[in-house]
Amino acid sequence: MSYFDGRVVAVTGAGAGVGRQLAIQLARQGASLSLIDRDQHALNQTISLIGTQSGAIRMSVVDVSDRDAMHACAAETFDASGSIDAVFNNAGVLYTGDVLDAEFDDFAHVMRVNFWGVVNGSKAFLPFIFRSNEGNIVNVSSAFGLMSAPGYSAYNAAKFAVRGFTESLRQEMLILHPQVKVSCVFPGGIKTSIARTARMAAPIDRQAVIESFEHSIARTEPEKAAQVILRGAKQGRPRILVGTDARIIDALTRISGSGYQ
Ligand code: ADP
Repeated sequence: MSYFDGRVVAVTGAGAGVGRQLAIQLARQGASLSLIDRDQHALNQTISLIGTQSGAIRMSVVDVSDRDAMHACAAETFDASGSIDAVFNNAGVLYTGDVLDAEFDDFAHVMRVNFWGVVNGSKAFLPFIFRSNEGNIVNVSSAFGLMSAPGYSAYNAAKFAVRGFTESLRQEMLILHPQVKVSCVFPGGIKTSIARTARMAAPIDRQAVIESFEHSIARTEPEKAAQVILRGAKQGRPRILVGTDARIIDALTRISGSGYQ
C-alpha cells in the first residue's frame, strides 16, 4: 500500500506543471484530493487527466494569496473529508527584472503569491494536519531559494523567504507536533510553462529567456519532479532537490538578464 493511500491531501497550483503531476500521482496512489488553483479551466483539465481512477476530489478556485479564502478552503476540505493529512504549497509565479526597472507592485505580487501563498497554505491547513497520525507540509521553494542571480531580486527574496519560513516551521514541528514532517522543495530546470507566464521587466529579452528555459535549461519532466517530491515527502526529508544542479544554476545565472550575458 502506498504511503498516500487513503490520505487527504491538498495541492496548490494543481492546474499545471509540477502541481498537476503531484495531483495525478497522488490520485494514482489512492489519496483523496483537495486541488487548488486560481485557474478554473486548468483545474478542470487536471481533473479530467486524473479520470475516474481515484478517490474523492474537491476543486477550489482560489488565489493562494487570499488568506480568508485559503482558510475557508481548508475548513471545507476538513468538513467534507473528516481529516487532512498533507498540504503541498506549490503554486508560484516567476518574475524577472532589474531592481530599477521592477515596479513595487511586481515585488508585491511575487511576494504575495510565492511567499504569502505558502504561509497562508501552511497556516490554514496545519491545525487540521497536526491531528493526523502522520502529517506532511511540503513547501515549494526553488533553486533560487538556494542561490541568487542578477535580475531575480523579487523572486529570490520570495523563495529565500519560503526556505526560511519552512526550515523554522520544521524545527517548530519537531518540538510541538513531531508527527508532522515538513519538507522544503528546491526545483530547478523543470519543463513547465512558468517562463511563458512569467512577468518580466525591461530590458530583459522575454523571448530569449523563454527559449533558454524551454530548450536548454528545463530538462526535468514535471512527472519526474513530482515522483521525487512525493518520495522525499514520504521520507520526511528536510530538503528535496529536484533538477537543481551546478549546470542549472550556472545557466540560470547566465540568462537571468540580457544585460548580464
Ligand atoms: P511550476 O509547475 O513550474 O510551478 P506552472 O506555471 O506550470 O509552474 O504552474 C503553476 C500553477 O500555479 C499554475 O496552474 C497557476 O495557475 C498556479 N498559480 C499561479 N499563481 C497562483 C495563485 N496566486 N493562486 C493559485 N494558483 C496559482
